[in-house]
Amino acid sequence: MDSSLLLKGGTVLTMNRKREVLKGDVLVRDGAIAAVGRNLEAPGGQAERVINAEGCCVLPGFVQTHVHLCQTLFRGVVEDVGLGKWLDRIWKLEAAHDERSMYCSAMVGCCELLRSGTTCVLDMGSVHHTDEVFRALLESGIRAIGGKAMMDSGDAVPAGLRESTRESLEESLRLHSQWHGAGEGRIGYALAPRFMESCSEELLRRVSENAGELDLLVHSHSSETRDEVAACKAQRGLTPPAYLNSVGLAAGNVVLAHCVHLELDDLRILSETGTKVSHCPSSNLKLSSGIADIGGIVRAGVKISLGCDGAACNNNLDMLLEMRLASLLQSYLNRDDFPWASLFLEAATIRGAEALGKSQEIGSIEPGKRADIITVDLSSPHTLCGEDCEPSSRLVFSARGSDVQTVVVNGRVLLEEGRLVFTDEERLLAKSSEELAKLLARCQ
Ligand SMILES: [Zn+2]
Repeated sequence: MDSSLLLKGGTVLTMNRKREVLKGDVLVRDGAIAAVGRNLEAPGGQAERVINAEGCCVLPGFVQTHVHLCQTLFRGVVEDVGLGKWLDRIWKLEAAHDERSMYCSAMVGCCELLRSGTTCVLDMGSVHHTDEVFRALLESGIRAIGGKAMMDSGDAVPAGLRESTRESLEESLRLHSQWHGAGEGRIGYALAPRFMESCSEELLRRVSENAGELDLLVHSHSSETRDEVAACKAQRGLTPPAYLNSVGLAAGNVVLAHCVHLELDDLRILSETGTKVSHCPSSNLKLSSGIADIGGIVRAGVKISLGCDGAACNNNLDMLLEMRLASLLQSYLNRDDFPWASLFLEAATIRGAEALGKSQEIGSIEPGKRADIITVDLSSPHTLCGEDCEPSSRLVFSARGSDVQTVVVNGRVLLEEGRLVFTDEERLLAKSSEELAKLLARCQ
């Protein structure tokens, strides 16, 4: 890491409390943001490294609160089916992972995320080989909270993923002790019961207890499809959020992906308990799950953030695309005058950080926070705008992941001039294609 870094001459979207936007510089020292303002210089003269940000928007790196890096290799493998059939196939593919394919899947995902400006993720792994996901997270330099998927129940779960309650908890706790706090605190652990239909009640109650004792996040799915809601009511007598609440898993440290099909009482539960919702609109459309009414969810006082879910159901991990789709859907659905682009830019930065309990550390460009910063080039034909154009709408509606020029995590420049510094991408992609072919052969 360079001990001082100066990002010079950009339009800085601070995402601070006042949402200040200013033309100027950002100075980074020892991995943290030291100053934001005009004509900054490193104390004692020139910064060790200067990056020209003219023509660029400088903003906090995106925080995605729901991804599955274990599925990156499965992009395009299972298409044109709804969630039920998709999950059947994806689970068999996940069960066929070995250590090498899992590492490649996670590393390719990290490359895609960082290239398109995501600097922090909440990841749900598969049941096995989670050490390989953490190894890729650590090596890539991205900030992440990960956790193995916990699956001790359910007829549809293939033998290769099915585990006992005891095994699921023991492996989770082993991974926690191995990886939580790794990379100088850049890596964290979250307990990740997959969803109600693949988890016993005992497992969910133990997850709630362990998360409380160890002060951990819980990462799960809820209310993704009408079928899931109906199954939960039939099997456990409650909607998924009400059921999760009954086992101690509706709380401020819980992040639930999707929440497409919520009833009025679900909104009350999520709001009163401070449970966080991760909105994944691409995945919800592609798997025919539905469209979450984010207007209604936000009006009920529920905190939302954003995630691309997995490359197997999106098929991108590009947060700019996800913000654009989210904004377009809500503009149509809610039909009111509301700045959706601003709301989803907040969801993608400071709200995402809040959902992960990290808003003291990341999510905005403010002195004292860790230096997770991106620059987005806005000087292309497709981003040319009038002077008065709101930077948030310019970013959300016009920019693309490929416009991201520089990516800094924890003060370390990971993407510069189109090159990722932590891997030989050409070799990684070739190796990943080989590993995918072997995995598919194992699935025959
Ligand atoms: Zn998911």
